[in-house]
Amino acid sequence: MLPELALGRLDRLALRRSDGRWIQRSAQDPSTFIVGVSGGDVFADQGLLCDARTHLPEAAELLLIGSVQGTTHIAATFPAPLPGFRSLREIGAALSADQAAVATTAVALHQWHRTHTHCPRCGTATVLAMGGWERHCPQDGSSHFPRTDPAVIVVITDSADRLLLARQAVWAPHRFSLVAGYVEPGETPEQAVAREVLEEVGLEVGQVEYLGSQPWPFPASLMLAYSARARATDFEVDGREIEEAMWVSRTELPSLLAGGTLLLPSRVSIARRALEQWFGSALED
Ligand SMILES: [Zn+2]
Repeated sequence: MLPELALGRLDRLALRRSDGRWIQRSAQDPSTFIVGVSGGDVFADQGLLCDARTHLPEAAELLLIGSVQGTTHIAATFPAPLPGFRSLREIGAALSADQAAVATTAVALHQWHRTHTHCPRCGTATVLAMGGWERHCPQDGSSHFPRTDPAVIVVITDSADRLLLARQAVWAPHRFSLVAGYVEPGETPEQAVAREVLEEVGLEVGQVEYLGSQPWPFPASLMLAYSARARATDFEVDGREIEEAMWVSRTELPSLLAGGTLLLPSRVSIARRALEQWFGSALED
């Protein structure tokens, strides 16, 4: 149960990050693949990343992403998406595992740079360092590192092995997914599973099991998928984050989908893969 965003064979070339001259030289080398990135968008055509070398803006910052099967990949930041840029959310499911790993890393790193421009200690503008894997404060010399925020996503089942689907108030009508939430400081992911399920749908769970993980750079999450068996079937949605929930059986699910009364999370998400693993096969939208 590993979605494409978790499978790529990307060598992150960590030992090259301190060599700014090597990164500059590699970016000039036509055999290097330049990944165009702008916010959550990447330069791509259909399900394929395209080399953005010929469109490179003057002030592009270079982020060393790594090597895939011997080809160095460097991301170049664009101040605004040009025609040809596509949202990673939109095309992620169509990318190969390797390209998804590259695009996910580029988007995650770029989003961090965009939102962490100043030193949290003294407020001075920081500068990019280590091929994009750090920012340094010229005033107090502090280093700052890209962050990723762990979040749990839960396949909740009852004693009849039905699945609990939940709907957030902010989602489009009929869109349902799994219960999810951030791991809090001082908490294990398993504790976060129990807390989030209790908070959002009022159920206690036993037997929490890890299923798999997926980087989710919107903007900086690492999704950890778990299964959890509910101790009861009567749920109570919190009415704030979760507006509605329902138990579904494997026999009910296809007809709900066919009838249009249920829309599933995107194919690119671990929520979809976890749900399909419970179901036993891929599901049509
Ligand atoms: Zn500072």
